[in-house]
Amino acid sequence: MARISQDEINRVKSTVSLLDWVRGQGYEVKKQGKDYAVLCPFHDEKTPLMMISPAKNVYHCFGCGAKGSVIDWVMKTLSVSFPHAMELLREFAGNPKVAAPAHPAPAAYRSSMNIKRSGMTHLDLEPLCPSDADGQSALQSVVSLYHQNLLNTTEGMKYLEKRGLMHPELVKHFKLGLSTKNLVYRLPAKHTIAGKQIRQTLRNIGVFRESGYEHFAGCLVVPVLDERSQVQELYGRRISPKSEKNQRHWYLPGAHRGVFNLPVFNAASELILCESLIDALTFWVHGFRNVTASFGTNGFTDELLAALKDYSIEKLFIAYDNDEGGNKIAAALAEKLQEDLPQLQLYRVQFPEGMDANEYALKVKPAEQSLDRLLRQAQPMNSSTDLQQQSNVVEQGVDTSLLVVPTPHVNLQSDIDKKPVDDCPLTITETEIKCQLGNRSYRIRGLEKNTSLGQLKINLLVQVGDMSKDGRYAGAPGGSAPVLLHVDTVDLYQSRQRNSFIQQASVECAMDEKKLKNDLGKLLLKLERLQEENHQKNPRKQG
Ligand SMILES: [Zn+2]
Repeated sequence: MARISQDEINRVKSTVSLLDWVRGQGYEVKKQGKDYAVLCPFHDEKTPLMMISPAKNVYHCFGCGAKGSVIDWVMKTLSVSFPHAMELLREFAGNPKVAAPAHPAPAAYRSSMNIKRSGMTHLDLEPLCPSDADGQSALQSVVSLYHQNLLNTTEGMKYLEKRGLMHPELVKHFKLGLSTKNLVYRLPAKHTIAGKQIRQTLRNIGVFRESGYEHFAGCLVVPVLDERSQVQELYGRRISPKSEKNQRHWYLPGAHRGVFNLPVFNAASELILCESLIDALTFWVHGFRNVTASFGTNGFTDELLAALKDYSIEKLFIAYDNDEGGNKIAAALAEKLQEDLPQLQLYRVQFPEGMDANEYALKVKPAEQSLDRLLRQAQPMNSSTDLQQQSNVVEQGVDTSLLVVPTPHVNLQSDIDKKPVDDCPLTITETEIKCQLGNRSYRIRGLEKNTSLGQLKINLLVQVGDMSKDGRYAGAPGGSAPVLLHVDTVDLYQSRQRNSFIQQASVECAMDEKKLKNDLGKLLLKLERLQEENHQKNPRKQG
């Protein structure tokens, strides 16, 4: 089983309430001074001699001598293994109402254990997914579970911290996860038809190996999602220090699929290309959101090449490691790209010798500025042969228009998704601005009234329903759908106003808050740009 760190064990022992758990199992507890008495599940008794101490979060039976922590309690009362108990407790900690195992009374334990023997090994844990799920649904469920693991355990977070990637927005945005080998507890028993079916699916997609071992066990897992959030590839980085000698980088079996951070390709004209996903995440946390990566040294795929072409990327900043391998591959890649995409302007980002983006960002402070400087100093790669000569050249009068600028207001607006917009086309008329995002229609009024760049106060209407072909909303007279809309005046720069708009709109339009939040993030970026343009064009007209 996955090695569970002592920190994690201590955390569960001290934070998951034994008393709540015992109550959740359906025991009657009686307060006695500071402690609680309960009928001992480990010996037959009529007067409760089992005491639970909430202060120490332990139990002790004065009848049979049984004692231990909340973990011991779960293992012994449910006859489950240590990792399984940890899994149950983590789930319970995350959602005590839902996950509390409902075991009625001591006597019923034995019968519940009988049930267990007849095949229900996975008490009370939410199943991974329906056993007849297709590969993509199963992959999505795995990504969700791994994501929860990362949020619920300390080891993954510690690793992120070590790599300078401890950034809640990053974890959420890329659905980062951690495999703790707990998948098996979310599956029907092995010998059942349902159990066999889902295990086969997991083997087919490569999450399970033939042996039934979790392919990414002990890895930080980075999913590669496409524009519709479908999982195309998984990258796993082994995080246990003991495994350093072993292979550290894992992918799903078979050829690589997908392009990392593809949604930004839509709006970006320039991109940073990293050698690894960890490096790309590094740029991202420091505000450079138009970043992608190849899958390791030899992992520049035809799919990535096609994406550069399809999305008409104009400038590519190759931020491969500055070591022998990285330089060689960067040079070869530049040559290939020059041939395949002659319009693409190529630049080499030069880290200090021997370093990659992640190491560099960990060493310099503030990393934003240093990364920015490296991008400014990136050298044109006119041909691969020039690379060696250029590698020592710094400050060669690079045109400032070549800069990859970190996203502005990154701290101010850190709760908003700052990735460059993917598909947020505005229709601008004299009186209003319209925008269709998925099934949401937005109408913006009053942008021109903002007299300074420090505010972005608008009258914002959101309506559910596609704009019909003739430009009317689906809910307009003549349409059959009921009108679900919300309108308010909101300064998009004010997170409180924004959040309140999101909450109310979510209720009135019966919509997911996340979607709305995402939309508002996109609109904010677009309107911000528009406002800046207007301001530059015509500074006096404002106000
Ligand atoms: Zn006892």
